Amino acid sequence: MFIPPDPSNYPEESALNRQMMHEDREDFLDRFREAPTIFVMCLQCDDWKRESTVQIEDICEDVSGRDVLTFICPTCKTKQEGLRVAR
Ligand SMILES: [Zn+2]
Repeated sequence: MFIPPDPSNYPEESALNRQMMHEDREDFLDRFREAPTIFVMCLQCDDWKRESTVQIEDICEDVSGRDVLTFICPTCKTKQEGLRVAR
């Protein structure tokens, strides 16, 4: 019995679809990079917090010129100090 080919089994078409999805993802990542989200590490929670969600107490620079943020963690309410990391 003859079984017609299933279009979804054509590798060229699958590769093309993956390529298009990949390009869309790159566009998305480019937009994301233009407006990075700043994260700070809470050692008490052992987790990253968005800078926009923490209560900022102070900000200074370490010996390497990196921004060090002193903040109140919104989750555990402790005072934390950590580097600002853009993602
Ligand atoms: Zn915390």
